[in-house]
Amino acid sequence: MEKIRMTTPLVEMDGDEMTRIIWRMVKDELLLPYIDLKTEYYDLGLEHRNETDDQVTIDSAEATKKYGVAVKCATITPNAARMTEYNLKEMWKSPNGTIRAALDGTVFRMPIIVKGIEPYVKNWEKPITLARHAYGDVYKNTEIKVPGAGKAELVFTGADGTEIRETIHEFDGPGILQGIHNTDESIRNFATTCFNYALDTKQDLWFATKDTISKKYDHNFKDIFQEIYDAEYKEKFDEAGIEYFYTLIDDAVARVMRAKGGFIWACKNYDGDVMSDMVSSAFGDLAMMTSVLVSPGGAYEYEAAHGTVQRHYYQYLKGEKTTTNSVATIFAWTGALRKRGELDGIPELVQFADKLEKASIQTIEEGKMTKGLSLISSIQNVTVLDCEAFIKEIRKTFDTL
Ligand code: NAP
Ligand code: MG
Repeated sequence: MEKIRMTTPLVEMDGDEMTRIIWRMVKDELLLPYIDLKTEYYDLGLEHRNETDDQVTIDSAEATKKYGVAVKCATITPNAARMTEYNLKEMWKSPNGTIRAALDGTVFRMPIIVKGIEPYVKNWEKPITLARHAYGDVYKNTEIKVPGAGKAELVFTGADGTEIRETIHEFDGPGILQGIHNTDESIRNFATTCFNYALDTKQDLWFATKDTISKKYDHNFKDIFQEIYDAEYKEKFDEAGIEYFYTLIDDAVARVMRAKGGFIWACKNYDGDVMSDMVSSAFGDLAMMTSVLVSPGGAYEYEAAHGTVQRHYYQYLKGEKTTTNSVATIFAWTGALRKRGELDGIPELVQFADKLEKASIQTIEEGKMTKGLSLISSIQNVTVLDCEAFIKEIRKTFDTL
């Protein structure tokens, strides 16, 4: 059989521990036999990040800007224990943070839906994609523990020296204070990326804040979204038959619980942090969750939403079989290959991605899955497979399609 040819390389970001092992297996079993795989390889494994003083992470982000599509393996974010374990020169920053900062992206997280692994919310028939603004607010705050009575003020001093001053509170005794910010530029990028992603995936876009209470801060988010929508997207949304829907955050939460799914839910930074964990656990399993970082410049970086699965890696090193589920890693690859195929006009690559996703889902629906899924599955007579056997089973299914 002739292999599918690619014209532009994918930016391949290799990673750490068990996901690095899975990465190799997925490539060897499911990709290389069928595709003349073209990638520009960056080793983001912690050892190589340390050797290159983390330059490799920056280079991989730059390559993503250049080529437009990347696929990333999970990576270790170093902490004190990793400093000793890997004998690190420095406590290198989170690669995801570095890449996000370079691309100024928004993270979209979407569950992979399989019959027999039902969401805890019974009416969710289609995936809910959560789009989280990843800049500012409480994540870049300044806080004061107020020691006692006194006056708290909010002061802005303009570059030309003009001052804006507002009283926050007259304290009679001890308390707390917090200063947060965002920028119009970052909110604009967030809005644009969400509108583009909705068009790209032909799904409605929901956005919600607390603008009735926060009449300037949250209202600014609402206004910027509306302004960009009216000026640049209204017609395109009408043509695509999709809708932009704004409501209050508490109303959004209530509606999401009653909805069928099949839309994108854009959230401010904190709401996105909280709601993405709620949505993903309600859909069943972290290993069935994909994630894509989309930049306003139009670059895409696909990955699994889970980490490097350290505990399983230590079992693997002892020569034991592991129960690691590779589905999210497979879908990171199919997401990236499909996007590359669309951008380069290679329908075979798009069809390959569709077929591999179908094979992965069908394998599970036929009752063949890893242990974690078997515990939450309603399918009868399940065959529990180890990590490698499951990947081989997906290949068998793929060859029958
Ligand atoms: P984790 O790797 O996601 O694993 C946490 C636990 O979740 C695992 O021990 C396992 O549970 C279960 N799990 C996660 N993915 C699974 C899969 N594919 N198949 C089966 N079970 C799975 O999170 P962590 O242990 O907190 O973090 C480990 C390392 O990953 C850390 O160094 C962290 O910095 C890094 N990390 C990277 C990313 C990223 O690159 N995007 C994201 C998060 C964390 P059981 O042990 O019960 O089987
Ligand atoms: Mg969180």
